[in-house]
Amino acid sequence: MHVVVLGAGVVGIATAYQLARQGHRVTVVDRQPGPALETSFANAAQIAAALCGPWSGPGVPFKLWGWLRDADSPLRFKPQADPRQWMWGLRFLMECTQARHDLTFRRMLEFGRYSQQALAQVKADTGMQYHQVEAGILKLCTTEETVADLAVLESLLGDAGIPTKRLTPAECVTLEPALAQARDRLTAGLHLPTDESGDAYLFTTRLADLCAEMGVAFRYGATITGFELENGAIDEVETDKGAIEGDAFVLALGSYSPKLARRLGLSLPVWPVKGYSATVPVGPGDSAPRISLYVAEKKVAMSRLGDNLRIAGMADIAGYDTALDPRRARQVLDAGLDIFPQAGDRDQARLWCGLRPLTPDGLPILGRCKLANLYLNTGHGTYGWTYACGSARVIADLIAGRAPEHDLSGLTLSRF
Ligand SMILES: Cc1cc2nc3c(=O)[nH]c(=O)nc-3n(C[C@H](O)[C@H](O)[C@H](O)COP(=O)(O)OP(=O)(O)OC[C@H]3O[C@@H](n4cnc5c(N)ncnc54)[C@H](O)[C@@H]3O)c2cc1C
Repeated sequence: MHVVVLGAGVVGIATAYQLARQGHRVTVVDRQPGPALETSFANAAQIAAALCGPWSGPGVPFKLWGWLRDADSPLRFKPQADPRQWMWGLRFLMECTQARHDLTFRRMLEFGRYSQQALAQVKADTGMQYHQVEAGILKLCTTEETVADLAVLESLLGDAGIPTKRLTPAECVTLEPALAQARDRLTAGLHLPTDESGDAYLFTTRLADLCAEMGVAFRYGATITGFELENGAIDEVETDKGAIEGDAFVLALGSYSPKLARRLGLSLPVWPVKGYSATVPVGPGDSAPRISLYVAEKKVAMSRLGDNLRIAGMADIAGYDTALDPRRARQVLDAGLDIFPQAGDRDQARLWCGLRPLTPDGLPILGRCKLANLYLNTGHGTYGWTYACGSARVIADLIAGRAPEHDLSGLTLSRF
């Protein structure tokens, strides 16, 4: 079968790899000159299978009000005239009940665990290196208020059988000696030893190289403009560089999936949420952390990627505005260097932003739809790197006509 994968982000390339392994003829199409040049380029690098959770929740609508009035808050909202933004917002608010939050959280943990196993299989099969650090993620608290929230997280993770370890500030420093710089600021930590981190860009580009060796064809620099349909199925995808025929198509266009899906009469509740990162070369003396961290109060994540420290965070709900706001990016940088002042030279930081393709509940949209040969693999929001390999396995199973190993309840388009 000839499968055409639309999108060469981490999700599209992971899918192309699984399909090629199964012996399909695969073509990947992307408008960029190479893989992972949009949202998968410089994310927080966390494989957050345990340290996850929906952004929606019972207290969130009240917190939103405060955040929206504060220009420096982690969340910024620029209202658009687009009714789809308001519809998305309404659906998000409907996710904010305790019952919906707990159900989504459980689904995230289950899919995260499955995806992490799928990533482990890719690593075992390929021996790929991508600055991975398999030492868990340490959630740090710097106020008493966030320490109180840890108990809720511990209980949810405990119910799911996921190990956690509560740490005192001194124990945090023992686990991550670079935290000695911030010892007096810490109030507690929670170590999630099964999580990991690694460079999504490096992973994606190396996997794309392997795919090429396996015979996958790449059509870079080709912008998808539409589709040619025949008898309720896609016959070919149209690009500005010509049409590409296929037997099956995988939609993995990140935040741009709904724009193209609309041409097929499909409504996907995926909305772009801009995030920022700063990548700082580690300075002489190496006082940057090695273990991946999440700082609860600031809502920033940090991961060590070889000789660099990546700091990431922020959520701007501002439509398809891809401009980098240097003030927001500097806020992310400051939040990280505030904890690790000697980690690196702030003047050498590389600033970046990308659009998270977010659904109202934060889970991806996977599987079949009303078009016979179109498979959806999109809407991975905050956890696209974490879920990429699991999503790829699901799609490869479906295309092979097998029931996916992972139960798709709550992960298909039919939930909306
Ligand atoms: C600041 C930040 C931090 C994050 N941290 C983490 C983290 O720690 N852990 C985690 O798991 N996730 C994280 N994420 C989320 C993760 O990066 C995304 O979910 C993931 O990259 C989405 O991958 P994708 O392949 O779906 O989309 P993309 O990487 O955006 O790929 C989509 C591709 O489609 C192509 N495309 C779009 N439209 C067209 C068109 N018309 N024609 C041709 N090609 C097109 C684009 O060029 C692009 O290459 C973070 C995101 C951000 C912004």
